Amino acid sequence: MGVSRQNTRKKIRCWMDNQHLARWQGLKSTQTQAQELISGPSPTAKTKLLSFNKTQSRVVTSLLTGHNILRRHLHLRGPTNSPLCRRCEAEDETSAHILCEHEALVSLRHVYLGSFFLDPVDIKNLSLGTIWNLSKRTGLLRTGIRLGGTKGLFLKPRCIRTVRTRTQLLINQSSS
Ligand SMILES: [Zn+2]
Repeated sequence: MGVSRQNTRKKIRCWMDNQHLARWQGLKSTQTQAQELISGPSPTAKTKLLSFNKTQSRVVTSLLTGHNILRRHLHLRGPTNSPLCRRCEAEDETSAHILCEHEALVSLRHVYLGSFFLDPVDIKNLSLGTIWNLSKRTGLLRTGIRLGGTKGLFLKPRCIRTVRTRTQLLINQSSS
């Protein structure tokens, strides 16, 4: 008795989903930012990500995983001396700080996310489209970082390239 192609595909997809879930649940403590902001594997999020263009996908993914050009990540990699938010200096400049608490983004957060301040757990319930809309409006991680309206701090693309190059050099040095 033969096995239908459709059934085989279904079984493979199911196996891949289980593997994905197992890897997610086995994440180490170094991926705390991702665990703080992402609830886990989601078919809805997968569909949305596949509908995004490269920029949208990069911005939203880097924001939710913490692998971005915000100061805490740069500080861990070496190029910056301080992990503190460059604008308010109240806390480490993490994705959670920017998405949930950074005061200069209060009004935009209210417009796009429906609240002046949020908890990281609230981010888990937002659609990726909503997060992209806020990121797009603020210019976050797109061509630079603008953390307080048009007069906020802005890291120019040339500076970002310099930071990226230095980061890559440090990574290369530490792995060789
Ligand atoms: Zn801040």
